[in-house]
Amino acid sequence: MSALELGKFSIGVGDRFAHQAKAQLQACLEAAQAGVEVIPVWNKSNREHNIIGSESSQTRAAADAAVKALHWKKPYFCDADHINLTTVDRFLASCDFYTIDVADAIGKPAASSSIETFVKRRSDLTGKVQLDGVDEPFEITPALLRSTAAKFLFAVEEAGKVYRKIEAAKGKGNFIPEVSMDETDAAQTPAELLIILAAIADEGIPVQTIAPKFTGRFNKGVDYVGDLAQFRREIVLDVAAIATAVRNFGLPRNLKLSVHSGSDKFSIYPAIHDATKKSGVHLKTAGTTWLEEIIGLAESGGDGLALAKEIYAEAYAHREELCAPYATVIDIDPARLPAPATVARWTSQQYIAALRHDPHSPDYNPSLRQLLHVGFKIAAKMGDRYLNLLQANEPVIAKNVTENLFDRHIAPVFSGKAVGKPSPGAALEHAGVR
Ligand SMILES: [Zn+2]
Repeated sequence: MSALELGKFSIGVGDRFAHQAKAQLQACLEAAQAGVEVIPVWNKSNREHNIIGSESSQTRAAADAAVKALHWKKPYFCDADHINLTTVDRFLASCDFYTIDVADAIGKPAASSSIETFVKRRSDLTGKVQLDGVDEPFEITPALLRSTAAKFLFAVEEAGKVYRKIEAAKGKGNFIPEVSMDETDAAQTPAELLIILAAIADEGIPVQTIAPKFTGRFNKGVDYVGDLAQFRREIVLDVAAIATAVRNFGLPRNLKLSVHSGSDKFSIYPAIHDATKKSGVHLKTAGTTWLEEIIGLAESGGDGLALAKEIYAEAYAHREELCAPYATVIDIDPARLPAPATVARWTSQQYIAALRHDPHSPDYNPSLRQLLHVGFKIAAKMGDRYLNLLQANEPVIAKNVTENLFDRHIAPVFSGKAVGKPSPGAALEHAGVR
């Protein structure tokens, strides 16, 4: 059997309650009809499983059922998202994609003997570096090689340990390994990325996707906040560093960039599309499918709308506790959160307009959206009351899930289509001019 390989374009879809796999897969079918192959990857982190009280076998069962029902013939994967040595075990049976998260180990020093060995072995990296497709060379001095090794080598060694644990359980080539370093403070420079990839190759990890940290804020479920021009420069250099690493270090040919918290980052989609249309990219969305469930419930009116309002009221009452685990990846302005009593009087249309991520709508409320995004624990606690309403209103929810993934994510990132139709004022705000 040949090794599993991730295709050129892939999308990580979160499905908190494991009810929308079919609607998500439908978006990939629509992509195929539009002429672009997008491989679905169902990702769910240990943190999400803990909050909801679910297991990765449920994600696997939902994905398998959707693939069967919709006759999907291309590959698909289940991603053990952001795992490490202590959390990987519960994902070993069900997953075939592993996001090995070593961000916490960045900055911890490796043994000085390993640093010496690495610096010696990779001394050819020093000097002028010309990245594939980039005009301006940059310099890696021996001091930079050493300081980068001191900062990242331990983290890469950790990734090697996790990789070998998975390999021992599943067998070589039977899973897709990703290494993620996104949940850290500083963006890695292209020189650092190149050195990190050399170390990953030395560890023997056949990495197929790498998730670096980019500059700017990637808050959950809302648009990018940062310097668009800087992001554009950075992603071009990252892609070039990866191409150079593939050519020189013997890493898998299909190694590509993974963009985490990638849902809703409408203002950088043109840059992502332009930089990755040749090399490919994995776009990991941030579990925003659950927000489409609430939108669908609100759109359904009656009990659905009532439950959507109740979820908001509960999330509002418990906002500090809900936000705490996500403090670094959300920015909620409490002054912009409507009182639950106000929301209780809203029509379906008012609720949808506030929650749906239409960047050009004056009623879109990113604070409310982020609060509900982290509020899935409320729905998890409701149990069957929530799940039964999902089932009762499946068609309208599924339509929202599919449209959101296809129109606002797949089409712009993989095909270069614009998201929505901007009004002049909104376009200015979009560009960061407020
Ligand atoms: Zn991530």
